[in-house]
Amino acid sequence: PHSDLNAARLPIPPRPRHTIYIFYQKMNKKSTFFSKTVAFFIKNSYCTSKRRNNMTFELPPLPYEKNALEPFISANTLTFHYEKHHATYVKNLNDLIKGTPLENETLEDIILQTAKDSSKQAVYNNAAQVWNHTFYWHSLKSPHNDKINDPTLLGLIQRDFGSVENLKNVLKSTAMGQFGSGWCWLVLDHDMLKVVRTPNAENPLGTSKPLLCIDVWEHAYYLDYQNKRADYLDKVVEHLLNWDFAVKNLSL
Ligand code: MN
Repeated sequence: PHSDLNAARLPIPPRPRHTIYIFYQKMNKKSTFFSKTVAFFIKNSYCTSKRRNNMTFELPPLPYEKNALEPFISANTLTFHYEKHHATYVKNLNDLIKGTPLENETLEDIILQTAKDSSKQAVYNNAAQVWNHTFYWHSLKSPHNDKINDPTLLGLIQRDFGSVENLKNVLKSTAMGQFGSGWCWLVLDHDMLKVVRTPNAENPLGTSKPLLCIDVWEHAYYLDYQNKRADYLDKVVEHLLNWDFAVKNLSL
């Protein structure tokens, strides 16, 4: 019943040189049909920030204000993380693929095509980091005490982790265990809920379906927590995870 992320992606319609998000906002005001269609399209491609016909990738807008994650992640951290780190990956990717056959591929296709090609390591690193960061912004939301209400997700958590509390502990310990830079992911792997970590830019695309991610590069927390990764993870897991986003990804 769960197709993988790549198979679930819809064809990208030709469109003028602006982001799908602007397109969505415009259409959303005009027509329910279009808003549903485009919302579905966006749902299936959070991170495909472009494109056909030699358009460059664009930095997707943050889904909230820069101070939305305070007091746990400061506007200062979010500004550097988004405007410097994420933006630089987008720029590097555009520079690396310019004039190459990858220029017209979607972001996910670039990631999948370069993942096992050591001669394309730099392209993979930057493409994956563009995707991962967009996914990470959506994996977080303003501090909240939301319980997980979705019966499907709750059922999977109880079956595969015993309890929400245990899942949260596994997320924290798995992320803590990543030596150096990397990511921690909640994924669906052959209908099993799993927590995995990946080094550097790597992500689970092509092997399992990502539901949520946590950035564990130092730049994600150093300004707020310095070396205390555990404190950052505790705040993110307890206060910022966007479980609605996981539920949406689950249903793709
Ligand atoms: Mn980062």
